[in-house]
This record gives sequence, structure tokens and C-alpha cells, in this order.
Amino acid sequence: MFNLEKLVRENVKKLTPYSSARREFSGAAQIFLDANENSFGSPLEQNYNRYPDPLQTKIKERIAALQNVKPSEIFVGNGSDEAIDLLFRIFCRPQIDNSLICPPTYGMYEVSAEINDVKVKRANLTEDFELDFEAIKQAFDENTKLLFVCSPNNPTGNSFACRDVLRLAENFRGIVVVDEAYVDFSNEKSLIFEINNLPNLVVLKTFSKAWGLAGLRVGLAFANEEIIKLFNKIKPPYNISQIAQEAVLQALKNKAEVDETIAKIISEREKLIENLQKFSFVTKIYPTDANFVLVKTVDAEKIYNFLLDEKIVVRNRNNVELCAGCLRITIGTPEENESLLKSFKKYQTTVLLG
Ligand SMILES: *Cc1c(COP(=O)(O)O)cnc(C)c1O
Repeated sequence: MFNLEKLVRENVKKLTPYSSARREFSGAAQIFLDANENSFGSPLEQNYNRYPDPLQTKIKERIAALQNVKPSEIFVGNGSDEAIDLLFRIFCRPQIDNSLICPPTYGMYEVSAEINDVKVKRANLTEDFELDFEAIKQAFDENTKLLFVCSPNNPTGNSFACRDVLRLAENFRGIVVVDEAYVDFSNEKSLIFEINNLPNLVVLKTFSKAWGLAGLRVGLAFANEEIIKLFNKIKPPYNISQIAQEAVLQALKNKAEVDETIAKIISEREKLIENLQKFSFVTKIYPTDANFVLVKTVDAEKIYNFLLDEKIVVRNRNNVELCAGCLRITIGTPEENESLLKSFKKYQTTVLLG
């Protein structure tokens, strides 16, 4: 029932990929006169005059070891946003094919679809933010190529049960993209280990959240080799800069430190939730498995603007499906969270009582 050949766009199948100088030659030459680089060097202490490794071999070897997959099952992107865009370009014919999202969810799926002139179908989550299998089944048709499931979900914060996501992948003949940007903050396990059991599963991860490297722009896609080959076929040849590759390799040596930060964020999260519950204008705090919390209030616009005056910016989700009255608050440092709570107290006394 699942047939990768049939899902891939014809132009991608027929494409002769750009053959970069560095990809054609990977032996042990000493003089490189093949890529029109500047052999004299760069005006920086560190030399960046050579093109970076187009396939990020070292990074993939390290991540493969950490995640227990093969390097050939990993794509490294300029943020996971690049992986999302490439998925549309590999699978979706503009104006013909469509994609399916489960709102409220991460906004880039829809933006990426629109950039690629691909229609988006919506199967909203249920009131308690669970996947609506019936709605998903109703929504998809023979041209639905991609189904995006974000777990833990942004902006709701909850994870979907692994078995629910697997059930989708088992029953859907398109590609199921599971976005695990926040999985490191969750008790639910990653689905990366399923990529060899499910030929239509793509799992996204990122260095932007738990790893604290949003400024580098590095994200990952995990899938079986055949799908990863397609990413590599159409990606920009040198999509990850030398600086980013070096920094990620360095960061990968400090996994223990990252684990400590994650533990701190989770502990701050629980503390913040406890304190937020005390405010009368906070009507609901949704359970979260992420480094943010979705908070329902009596007047999201007013609180949002009040916080802005206090020089604190949170995410106003008031106009998003099923999120009326909601603010999405990222867990900050203890000091930042303290400031937020102080401003909430000020709001309580000056605006509500005054
Ligand atoms: C933040 C986030 C990402 C990360 O995107 P990058 O391009 O890797 O920075 C991906 N998915 C979701 C749901 C996010 O919230």
C-alpha cells in the first residue's frame, strides 16, 4: 500500500543533482584548484575560505552513534524549517497535491505549504488537544502527500501517545512527519527508532530548543535511506556553514551539560506552573511536555499588551484555533520567570483591582 516511488514528484525523480566540487572529490589531495575558492585565505583569524562538507559527515557520524541509527538515515538542514520545505518540494506537486495538519500546531507547516503553492487541509485536534482520527481520515484523499504531527505539540505543549502516532503512520499511505522539536523535555519517547519499521515515517529534530543553538540554524530529519537520499538530491549543496558544523560538533561533546539544562528547565517549568495557578485571571494551565506552557486567561490581548509595557514578550495565541484567551509562555531563567510573575502580580493589583 505504501509506495515511495509513486509519492515522489516526477521532476525530482528525473533530476540530475548539482554536483559540487567537494562532493565529486573526497580523496586526499593537497592542492585544491577545483572550486574557485580563494586559496590565499580569509580576512579572519580562522580560515573560512573553503566550502564546507556538503554532507556534514562528522556530525552525522556523531548523531548516528547517539541515536543508534545509520549516518545514511540522517539529513542535516538549515534548521528543521529547511527539512519541512524540502519535504514539500520532494513530494507535493504545486496546485495538485495537498498536505494535512492538525491545528492548533506549528505555523511553519502551513507557511511552507503556501510558499510551495500546496494546499493545506486541516483536521483540528479535539477540545483536549488530542489527535482526531476520524477528522484525519475524513480529510485525506489520494493527493494528500504529507501529514504533519507535532509531538510535543506547539503551542499546546502536550505529547501524543506513541501508539497513536504509529497508528497514523501504519494507516496512512503518504508521508507522516513527526516533529519532535520538544521531545527532549518530554517523558514520551522519540519515534526515531521506528524509521526502519515504517517506510513513510520522517522524524524531525532540532538543535534550536533543548540544545540551545537556535542561532546556528541546524535541524535534523531522520528517515529510511531512500527518503534521505531524496533530501540530499534536492538540498542546496552547502546548506550548513563551516561555523555551524564546527559548533555543533563541539556541542555534541557536551551532551551531559545539555541534559542538566533540560532538567533545570523542567524544574523551572513546574515552579512557574505552580505560581501561575494562583492568579484569578489565569483560568487554565494546559499540561505541558515542552519548554513552554499554554495559559488560558480571561483577556489575552490585555495581558499581552500589559506585559509588553513591562518589556516582557510572550506569544499571543488568542486568534489560533481552540486557543481563545491563550498565551504561550516560554520557560525562562529563574530571574526571567520571577520578573514575569512580578508583572502578573502588578497586573492583578493595578488592572484588575484598580
Ligand atoms: C521551534 C520549532 C522548530 C525548530 O525549527 P528550527 O528551524 O530547527 O529552528 C521546529 N518545529 C517546531 C514545532 C518548533 O516549535
